[in-house]
Amino acid sequence: MDLQILPIDQPNPPISDENNLVFGKQFTDRMFVMEYDTGKGWHSARIQPYAPFVLDPAAMVFHYAQEIFEGLKAFRRADGTIALFRPADNFARFNRSARRMCMPEVDESFLLDALLKLIRFEADWVPHNEGTSLYIRPTMIATEPMLGVRPSNKYLCYIILSPVGAYYKGGVAPVKIWISDYYVRATEGGTGEAKTGGNYAASLYAAKQAAENGYDQVLWLDAKEKRFVEEVGSMNMLFLYDGKIITSPLRGTVLDGITRRSALTLLGEMGYQIEERALTVDEVMEGATNGRLTEAFGTGTAVVISPVGSFCYKESCVQLGDGQPGKLTMKLYHQLTDIQYGKEPDPYSWVTLL
Ligand SMILES: *Cc1c(COP(=O)(O)O)cnc(C)c1O
Repeated sequence: MDLQILPIDQPNPPISDENNLVFGKQFTDRMFVMEYDTGKGWHSARIQPYAPFVLDPAAMVFHYAQEIFEGLKAFRRADGTIALFRPADNFARFNRSARRMCMPEVDESFLLDALLKLIRFEADWVPHNEGTSLYIRPTMIATEPMLGVRPSNKYLCYIILSPVGAYYKGGVAPVKIWISDYYVRATEGGTGEAKTGGNYAASLYAAKQAAENGYDQVLWLDAKEKRFVEEVGSMNMLFLYDGKIITSPLRGTVLDGITRRSALTLLGEMGYQIEERALTVDEVMEGATNGRLTEAFGTGTAVVISPVGSFCYKESCVQLGDGQPGKLTMKLYHQLTDIQYGKEPDPYSWVTLL
């Protein structure tokens, strides 16, 4: 398939104030778009000016939520070059999500190549300040105008880019986490392992309640027994328990995070024993009190590593250690970001340079 490059008549000046970038609010001048029709396959791939879509009000995505997305970042390095972190993993996961949602798969290497071309056009939009990056959002939506319930015969796949600020301004802040004993995010056999918008729509109500009560995030338990901790918002959860790293196994209800995967590799390299098993909520609450649980952190592309300060469940709250980011948590945060920003070598070939 050819990639058409459409002209852009009035480029906007890139980022005016790098210090005040709000996550996901500002977008670059161009985007990648391609279209799919049953019988024809993917076609009309192009890099074009960033612009709204005109969609039929009956477009299936609006009614039955056939939608998937990805999230990755491009980093500006000290020498000015631009690096992507494990982009092939994101496009492989995009296709796994597509299969689960009965959407057409994409040619992963074509899409990665198109993304690299798009970022080359938009290179001035990759911010320079410490901790900043260009957030990349590949998305696919069902566009066929049709109210019957079945997979769509038409799709749009697009990639938009958004310069984002350092997640942590003024130091890494530990989060206060509410463990929901009622609401659930994903059930076995459901769509928890697909990166699809519906999972997020379903999580908003509990997240809103958590925010109203002063919590930063919701930690989801398994839907069946409401006993085993699974993941948080848009992050996987890792625990330092009895000196070992414990994290939820990937059995369909937890998203296969690329930051999770990278963290496990680095922690294994540091000599930590890793157990992919479901920690119970009692182990978390008692462990924080009796000292068996010394650190806990979330992993995800947007935050990289997010230390947990305290957990609250039903009527009680427990603080982890002294409530400050753990030593291992911070070591891991620096190791990972140093590879991303090219301050340390990349022995795992995680980085793709533009
Ligand atoms: C995207 C996402 C993550 C984190 O995945 P990364 O690949 O590390 O960014 C974790 N949980 C959920 C539900 C997600 O959507």
